[in-house]
Amino acid sequence: MADNCLFCRIIAGEIPSNKVYEDEHVFAFRDINPQAPVHILVVPKEHIACAADINADNSVAVARCFEAIAKIAKAEGLDTGYRVINNCGEDGGQTVMHLHFHLLGGEKLSEKML
Ligand code: AMP
Ligand code: ZN
Repeated sequence: MADNCLFCRIIAGEIPSNKVYEDEHVFAFRDINPQAPVHILVVPKEHIACAADINADNSVAVARCFEAIAKIAKAEGLDTGYRVINNCGEDGGQTVMHLHFHLLGGEKLSEKML
């Protein structure tokens, strides 16, 4: 756990969250400022600051997040699709420096960016 990391503190239960999924390695909770009817943040329990810090020693955390995403999407009824977004660093718009994936769905999403 990294000191003063918001998501580490949420994972530890020090800060409340609307949890939707948890296993040994992954924690997922609803975004406080949802951008779609379903907007869930999927985070590895291991503190990795951002995508730029993924390497051969820790990349299994990413695979575990995507395994969880598939399960959560099914549980949320996102049968017709969804979007997964990762913001990395300042130019990528990352505001919380603990690796996380936004799972968005529940409507036909905008095609403006990608
Ligand atoms: P990013 O901008 O990619 O770093 O995403 C950070 C996300 O965390 C934003 O979508 C915020 O709305 C969300 N967020 C910030 N604080 C909380 C919180 N306490 N509980 C749930 N989501 C949060
Ligand atoms: Zn953290």
